[in-house]
Amino acid sequence: MTLHPADGAFENRLRDILPAEAFRETAPGHLEIPRGEFRSGGGLLVTPGTAEETAAVMRSANDAGVPVIPHSGGTGLVGGQVSPDLDRPVILSTARMTAVRSVHPEENAIVVEAGLILQDLHGAAEAVDRLFPLSLAAKGSARVGGVLSTNAGGIGVLRYGNARDLCLGIEAVLPNGDIHHGLTRLRKNNTGYDLRNLLIGAEGTLGFITAAALRLFPRPAAAGAALFAVDGPAAALNVLSTALDRLGPGVAAFELISGVGLDFLSEVGPAVKRPLDPAPEWMALLEVAGGAGFDPDGALTGLFEACAGAGLVSDGVVARSEAQRAELWEIRESLPEANRRIGSIASHDVSLPLSEVPGFISDAAGRIADIGSFRVNCYGHLGDGNLHYNVFPPEGGDRGDHPGAGPRITRVIHDLVAERGGSFSAEHGVGRLKAAELERYGDPAKLAAMRAIKAALDPRGIMNPGAVLRRSDTPEAPR
Ligand SMILES: Cc1cc2nc3c(=O)[nH]c(=O)nc-3n(C[C@H](O)[C@H](O)[C@H](O)COP(=O)(O)OP(=O)(O)OC[C@H]3O[C@@H](n4cnc5c(N)ncnc54)[C@H](O)[C@@H]3O)c2cc1C
Repeated sequence: MTLHPADGAFENRLRDILPAEAFRETAPGHLEIPRGEFRSGGGLLVTPGTAEETAAVMRSANDAGVPVIPHSGGTGLVGGQVSPDLDRPVILSTARMTAVRSVHPEENAIVVEAGLILQDLHGAAEAVDRLFPLSLAAKGSARVGGVLSTNAGGIGVLRYGNARDLCLGIEAVLPNGDIHHGLTRLRKNNTGYDLRNLLIGAEGTLGFITAAALRLFPRPAAAGAALFAVDGPAAALNVLSTALDRLGPGVAAFELISGVGLDFLSEVGPAVKRPLDPAPEWMALLEVAGGAGFDPDGALTGLFEACAGAGLVSDGVVARSEAQRAELWEIRESLPEANRRIGSIASHDVSLPLSEVPGFISDAAGRIADIGSFRVNCYGHLGDGNLHYNVFPPEGGDRGDHPGAGPRITRVIHDLVAERGGSFSAEHGVGRLKAAELERYGDPAKLAAMRAIKAALDPRGIMNPGAVLRRSDTPEAPR
């Protein structure tokens, strides 16, 4: 299908049916992604205030064959929210849909609009003494619509699941302008195909989410954190399994951090306190949480002693106050910014079966050394088998000194992940950055079904063209 720009005549038609506040100037965050891999030349920014206004935009775009790029917080890392190769698309933003529609603490549920910022959702849950557990370093900008559309993960997946697991129902506008009224708060609802789960993780290629009913949880009565120096990734996995044996669902998060990450923080900031100095080669950051009577300090100290006795950990610090706990998490949450300041040659968000993680890390180091001399900051949500495997120039070097190295490194890493039964995208999604990787590594039957679903729901191909599934007019994926 031929796509057309949102020209003056199209814009005038929209201005006739939408209020003036639905039209805004684009800002840099609408036109580029955080790490800068994708930039767009511009578009018509439209910010509807309701599902009905969204439906009016979508109907007009569908009739005129104008592409629509959904946009929420603009923090997506795979280019789903920015299209470099479309001539003046509609950039459809959730920024005016920020209301908390209703709160149901007795049901542990909340109904919010898709433009609510994740941090504000945390606040709304806290206000009724509840927890919305999904959290990530971009929580001050990411919005509910983007979090659901990327099926975001973050630091609480081990205990609470990812965005999909936290969503009870959604309201969404389909490409033809139909509104899907699926804002149910039901925990059981076996009534045919699950449109909610199809739209979650679709990265805006099948429709536009306008609101969601989400799960809340009781706030833990007590929580604590600790940073352990571990004797390598295999030891970290053993610490995780010991922690799960001893504390079960009391293990709320389990992150792997490498000494390289702490070196980066010293080199370029952000400035953080370093509880273990000099930095060990590998560390595990754990969060434990529980109900009344739970003693996080005792749980973490007991775990450390058990792990030290088994030779898994050599040093550690247990946070003794809320401020110390926040300081430990600040280390982890500052790593993406430190990476950005150093400037990666290649970044990867991969997942593996847990037992494959140590072998992957050691094989990857060997195969990357065959390409050149690099620094690797490998860290991530070890409890979920999710690693951020990011490759940088040697100290004092510049990524520009290594032309062509990025794609070679990525091929090696993604091949290794595939060999070990993993995924080339754990939590960031496919977007435009990894659409060719999906063709390369995706299951053919699944890809065919995805294309059929896309054609059925979006026959004119207006929704986020080129994201997740490449456009048919682009060249074949490089093999
Ligand atoms: C510092 C940093 C740390 C991060 N940490 C994590 C992490 O730990 N875990 C993780 O999973 N991700 C992480 N991310 C990635 C990012 O924050 C998440 O993908 C987030 O969910 C994106 O939300 P957003 O509102 O910014 O969406 P956007 O970037 O605006 O959009 C993301 C995708 O969703 C689509 N979309 C947006 N709104 C809608 C809608 N209403 N309906 C349909 N489609 C829509 C867009 O078209 C795009 O494809 C991180 C990013 C940064 C910058």
